Amino acid sequence: MNDENKSIHEFEMNLICEYFSSIERQGPGSKEVTVKALSFIDNLTNKSKIADIGCGTGGQTMVLAQNTKAKITAIDLFPFFIDLLNEKAQKLNFQNRVKGNVGSMENLPFREEEFDVIWSEGAIYNIGFERGINEWRKFLKKGGFIAVTEASWFTETRPAEIDTFWNEAYPEIDTIANKVAQMQKAGYVPIASFILPENCWIENFYTQQIEAQKVFLEKYAGNKTAENFVAYQRHEAQLYYKYKEFYGYVFYVGKKV
Ligand code: SAH
Repeated sequence: MNDENKSIHEFEMNLICEYFSSIERQGPGSKEVTVKALSFIDNLTNKSKIADIGCGTGGQTMVLAQNTKAKITAIDLFPFFIDLLNEKAQKLNFQNRVKGNVGSMENLPFREEEFDVIWSEGAIYNIGFERGINEWRKFLKKGGFIAVTEASWFTETRPAEIDTFWNEAYPEIDTIANKVAQMQKAGYVPIASFILPENCWIENFYTQQIEAQKVFLEKYAGNKTAENFVAYQRHEAQLYYKYKEFYGYVFYVGKKV
């Protein structure tokens, strides 16, 4: 990337970061779904360690803290998200066992077999599901769990419009059966897979963005990058309403063999 493209890229990233930090979660999810995925994981104590990768501003991190006694290390690329997460942890009095750090999921600062649980909601697509579950496995203790959400097809075939959109956005989107098989191949026992209910997308994600979009477009009136970004988010939301029977997010829980 040359210097000019690099600064355009940075400007875009800052805008995206600002936009998403104004909403509670940066991807589809809910407290109930995090608790449900957690229900498949046993034997967590106050000695257990959880890594929350691509944690954003910590929506699910706080739910993990509220529902376990474990020590949680949360990692995200964006310093601003991590500042918000650490503020939340402080407010909820979790600062002694919840710590947000800036870092990349491609180069995690963890030790082998350090963690009892690896958690990642709405984020593994940044590295790719298959690469993520394979590369992160070494950081789990034997018998440890991985729990991630991932965009998945619900049916064997689907209308061309949504197929094309997703194959451009994230070519690794695949059926639930294929994702579970990848998990097994990577050395995990597939413990559970379940579809996130629609409220995770509608109430908790797209509806939250409506107000954020208004504020954002007023603040950045005339800014093409901001306008194109919002237009893309709106398009994505419209496609969800139109095609939600064909795809969604799925929680995959696996146990390291
Ligand atoms: N888990 C949160 C955020 C999901 S959005 C939630 O469900 O609300 C995806 C997150 O991945 C963003 O916060 C983004 O900053 C982060 N991310 C993107 N690339 C990353 C990388 N290479 N390493 C770590 N985090 C990354």
